Amino acid sequence: MKFATFKPNHATSEILVGIVSDDERHIQALGFDAAQAASGVAAVVRAQAAGVSLPAAGRRYDLSAIELLAPFPRPARNIFCVGKNYFDHAKEFAQSGFDSSTKPGDDIPADPIFFTKVPESVIASGQAIVIPQGVSEAIDYEAELAVIIGKQAKGIAEADAMDCVWGYTIVNDVTARDWQNRHKQWFMGKSFDTFCPMGPWAVTKDACRGEQTQVRCFVNGECRQNASTTDLIFKIPKLIATVSAGITLYPGDIIATGTPVGVGIGFKPPKYLQRGDRVRVEIDGIGAIENPVI
Ligand code: MG
Repeated sequence: MKFATFKPNHATSEILVGIVSDDERHIQALGFDAAQAASGVAAVVRAQAAGVSLPAAGRRYDLSAIELLAPFPRPARNIFCVGKNYFDHAKEFAQSGFDSSTKPGDDIPADPIFFTKVPESVIASGQAIVIPQGVSEAIDYEAELAVIIGKQAKGIAEADAMDCVWGYTIVNDVTARDWQNRHKQWFMGKSFDTFCPMGPWAVTKDACRGEQTQVRCFVNGECRQNASTTDLIFKIPKLIATVSAGITLYPGDIIATGTPVGVGIGFKPPKYLQRGDRVRVEIDGIGAIENPVI
């Protein structure tokens, strides 16, 4: 199933959560109260984690008439992210000169590298990625499968980790490469305002084979990234086991699993995002997000 967060029209501040029809033409609102709906699809995940049935279905809308928001418009916590988690991307990043985490010869990490993005960086498909004038012009895209946690979890063994997964969404882990390099960490340059396009909705795990799906990124129609999540260095269970070893995960937490080869700094010279570009990220079983760059 696909669950989306939306405004019934572009003029309202009312936020609703609903179920997207299989043909993606309609969305059926669910009767959450305003406070629950403001958390987006997290309201669904939390209800299901608590064993509470979802509120009754309400009005049905044409998908073409509503404004889709990010499925988690402002996640309750930072988004967990994994760096250098595809073999070919780890090599491309190590060779780019922007990787402050690597010593020569150790470009494939022995353990997952985690960082986070602030919740306020999230935007919906269709909203603009803003290049911050005077702050950075080295802005890059990163197409990623994001895992949505479905239950409270601590100390989870890899063998049990997929039971903690509620479903998936798409994230574009937009990055200011010069900040990532200069400040010797990955938090700031990945948390700028608008740097986490997410959506178009969240799908339950039966809809997407997260461990074996295809991730693609296009810039102005040119395919830059095209890889299978089977190429992840650290698979989804390993990521969940690693985070939950010391940090309790909660329903609605999000883990972005890393990006494949083909980012802008993999090219010589780098192909940074430019004002006027359009970035599209597609993942089989979920859908696509597309964002203009301004
Ligand atoms: Mg990333």
